[in-house]
Amino acid sequence: MEAVTVSGTKQSNRVLAGACRCGAVRYQVSDAFLYAANCHCSGCRAATGSAFKAFAGIEREKLTITDGLDNIAVVGQHDANDTRCRACGSFLFSVVRDGAFVHVAMGSLVDAPSISPTEHIFVGSKAAWFEITDDLPQFDELAE
Ligand SMILES: [Zn+2]
Ligand SMILES: [Zn+2]
Repeated sequence: MEAVTVSGTKQSNRVLAGACRCGAVRYQVSDAFLYAANCHCSGCRAATGSAFKAFAGIEREKLTITDGLDNIAVVGQHDANDTRCRACGSFLFSVVRDGAFVHVAMGSLVDAPSISPTEHIFVGSKAAWFEITDDLPQFDELAE
């Protein structure tokens, strides 16, 4: 009898819940993010009203809106947008890369993902009043 080889994949079968501040919109996303970063670009700072946006990327089909589909506000195009709750304005995720991926705004996750941001990007446009105090790699724009 042959031994069964179990591949050492990091993908988990966990499903994470996410929600807006008021709870009108809820989503589920599999805990299989491919990358995560803190983006300091002026667009992300304005969109979040914060020093940077912590986001995690995953294939679009791995995220499902489970509640409040008629309460979402899609800012932008079908295949390139920021998706928010229309009732409370919370930033939930962005549809990116010609609609193939979503970038989940990590602050909207209710459950803790396995991944954490691994780098700071667009540090060249970082807010002057914010100091990065961790040891993650920093890139002026995108990582090389
Ligand atoms: Zn809401
Ligand atoms: Zn950005």
